[in-house]
Amino acid sequence: MTTTLAPSFAPSANVSHIKESATLAVASRARALKAAGREVLDLGAGEPDFDTPEFIRRAAQKAIDSGATKYTATEGILPLRQAIAAQAHADPSEVVVSTGSKQSLFNACFALFGPGDEVLIPTPSWTSYYEMVSLARATPMAVFGDVSRGLKVTADQLAHAATPRTKGLMLNSPCNPTGSVYTADELGEILELASQRGWWVISDEIYQRITYENPAPSALSLVPDGNRERLILVNGVAKSVAMTGWRIGWAIAQRPVAAAMNALQSHTTSNPATPSQYAALAALTDTAAADAAIERMVATFRERRDAAMAILDAAGITYVRPDGAFYLYIRVGDGDRFATRLMDTHGVAIVPGSAFFTPDWVRLSYAAPTTTVVEGVKRLVALVKDH
Ligand code: PMP
Repeated sequence: MTTTLAPSFAPSANVSHIKESATLAVASRARALKAAGREVLDLGAGEPDFDTPEFIRRAAQKAIDSGATKYTATEGILPLRQAIAAQAHADPSEVVVSTGSKQSLFNACFALFGPGDEVLIPTPSWTSYYEMVSLARATPMAVFGDVSRGLKVTADQLAHAATPRTKGLMLNSPCNPTGSVYTADELGEILELASQRGWWVISDEIYQRITYENPAPSALSLVPDGNRERLILVNGVAKSVAMTGWRIGWAIAQRPVAAAMNALQSHTTSNPATPSQYAALAALTDTAAADAAIERMVATFRERRDAAMAILDAAGITYVRPDGAFYLYIRVGDGDRFATRLMDTHGVAIVPGSAFFTPDWVRLSYAAPTTTVVEGVKRLVALVKDH
């Protein structure tokens, strides 16, 4: 008997609109060029270039050797949820640990939003929010921030963009791709509006520990009491302690929402990888070692940021002055064309701003060795002058 393959594949309605994550696409193109023998300065990466701190690696190794190789509860091991809950004055039953904060965000969108719902997304914003909201069959609504405010949005702008169908709001401070950080006043006003309107607020605080001027306020400390139960706080270990590959993130939400997210996860991925959970546990409970590691990494990011900004300032180029995360968002005109030319003619990988719904810009990551950042920014400036 012979089997025949289907002659063509028509993607289902579930995925027909979906595109590969543009940021990951740049990374794979840079890898392909490198594999072909080209020198590429990679300033496209959305991850710290540091190794996971040693105390965390050791904890994971120890856990594996002690048998942490089996399934755990879908929502994650209790000590990890206890550690997460303690930081947020929440109960462990309100915490769901997932395979990266990306999954936490997806779980939240899927649990909260559906057909007919609109979700406000301050833009430029991280690529995946739009896809996640769309996968939930809700409608993402971009609200554009002004350059004069570091591309952050105001409560007024959100109020104007809202309709009777508005069901929720995605927040991300410090912001990918701009590095902008909302002040307590700015965030407070937005959360007050959300409370008045009864919106769900998903606050993605994955870059919270990476700031340069002032600490980034958490939505948790600013949300009016009346809307506390409509806040879903998302965080993880990927960016703060250089653990991108371990895939651990979490959501904190009122118990019925946490239960819905957990039920969804129980039918998709089950628990996040068990050794990774123990690694994250070490990162959250050995706070002295974690704080020291974070301080070292942030100091290095700051040095690179300052070096890059000095070059951009000297050239008079418009960019958002970043107070957090590890990105520079730079205005170049046609970002797609610019990024392609920079890669092809100058060997520098960056991400076009179209990935973040603002095509006049490009995102440069300074999570790379200082010499690479400096050389990459110089080449970028040279291309701007050429343009
Ligand atoms: N949120 C934002 C804003 C991000 O930039 C990223 C990673 N690029 C994530 C969430 C996902 O992080 P992870 O799944 O690795 O925790």
